[in-house]
Amino acid sequence: MSDLYLRLVNTPVGRTAAQSLGLPAPAPLKRLKRTDQPFIEGKVLIGAANGGKAIATLGSILGASAATLHHASESNRLADSSKAGNKARPLDLASDINQQFSALVFDATGLKGPADLRALYDFFHPTIKKLGSNARVLVIGQNPASCRKAPQAAAQGALEGFVRSVGKEIGKKGSTANLLWMAPGAEKQLDSSVRFFLSARSAYVSGQVVKVGKGNAAPATNPVAPLTGKVALVTGASRGIGAAISETLARDGATVIGLDIPPAMEELEKVTSAINGKALACDITDDKAPKLIADFIEEHFGGVDLVIHNAGITRDKTLGNMPEHFWDMTIAVNLTAEELIDEELAKRELMKENGRIVCISSISGIAGNFGQTNYSTAKCGVIGYVEAMARQLKNGITINAVAPGFIETRMTAAMPVTIREAGRRMNSLSQGGQPVDVAEAIAWYCSPASNGVNGNVVRVCGQSLIGK
Ligand code: NAD
Repeated sequence: MSDLYLRLVNTPVGRTAAQSLGLPAPAPLKRLKRTDQPFIEGKVLIGAANGGKAIATLGSILGASAATLHHASESNRLADSSKAGNKARPLDLASDINQQFSALVFDATGLKGPADLRALYDFFHPTIKKLGSNARVLVIGQNPASCRKAPQAAAQGALEGFVRSVGKEIGKKGSTANLLWMAPGAEKQLDSSVRFFLSARSAYVSGQVVKVGKGNAAPATNPVAPLTGKVALVTGASRGIGAAISETLARDGATVIGLDIPPAMEELEKVTSAINGKALACDITDDKAPKLIADFIEEHFGGVDLVIHNAGITRDKTLGNMPEHFWDMTIAVNLTAEELIDEELAKRELMKENGRIVCISSISGIAGNFGQTNYSTAKCGVIGYVEAMARQLKNGITINAVAPGFIETRMTAAMPVTIREAGRRMNSLSQGGQPVDVAEAIAWYCSPASNGVNGNVVRVCGQSLIGK
């Protein structure tokens, strides 16, 4: 779907007109072009507060991206991916600080109380204006709920407000800011999340907090095709976000079973045949659906690694005007079917070890929306389901959700023009996301290296103003 305003405002005349009228001038977002490109290019400045536990790991992740590490002090380092092979040298703050950075990464795990928050100012104040466009800010902290002392919880909790505000300040240049909460001892699990949040794959993800736990040991993966040998089930795969998820998981090496309702078979087969996948006609609300899906998986593959519950519908009406079948259908497709399919796959032991379940919530589920009590109820139910299941699943299986904001699909193209324009602009990046943005977040959850990423709900919404 096309955002005409975004294209216009990025012409010289359009930019000048937008500036003089005080209108938003969103920057075009850079998305992944090739899977073998470095996850980040340009210079990355890494800093840490005293006692940071992630700094060494951050150094080696960025070092492994053909970056040269320049030690500024014990805590500040410069990773320069444009000068692979350079020997480390001390960072000269006076001159190096005048360069442009593609990312600022700060290890705040060592913050012990409110006074330590000054370290954020000291690191970001002189550098934030040196960020180029489509740049990244990534802060590593810890979950305040896991802090034993109140001052430490205060400092760690403060990081959320910091990151969300930074996201709003840098969003106009297409840049993002996010926070990882690293559990004690989970340094080795940071890799996949640091790579995702510093790369073009997270173009439309900003202002988010992600829990990274210890999980099973993360295996080494082929970064170009990390899902090689995996079997994925994607529901609602014939179009929109589901088609993008199928294509992205196949790009990363997975064999995809695309599922959709029987009337969508022609479209579905176009998607699955282009990626050498299999098409399965099934209405997930049918009583027989869980068994049919499990039988299909058992017969063709013997098991499944990745289950992506993408199928969804809206049936909007204010509550007093809503016919009961609108309520029932919306809850059945968006929530009940997911639970019943997972239950059947678990009962028949078809979910493989280190498997992944991903559910699709929505910012409407988080914030509530006029005329969408049924949809918001279902999508918020998804969050409750994910959080409970994350505590119960065994064998290294994880479950997470994405909560898309305004994504350019047929669903949003059908909106009245004023609501559509508001949806597009009311976020820090002042534009809608693409289906691939949701798919990239799902591919990150699905990576074998994401064993420590469990029980999260990440919004893919450009830091929408809607929601908490
Ligand atoms: P879409 O309407 O383009 O696609 C949904 C797909 O689900 C369709 O192919 C449809 O046939 C299939 N489906 C519906 N009912 C089904 C059933 N009973 N059994 C099997 N398949 C069924 O929607 P989309 O915009 O691509 O949305 C995908 C998911 O993302 C949905 O869960 C939606 O609620 C969610 N979402 C979308 C947006 C957005 O901006 N587009 C925002 C938030 C959340």
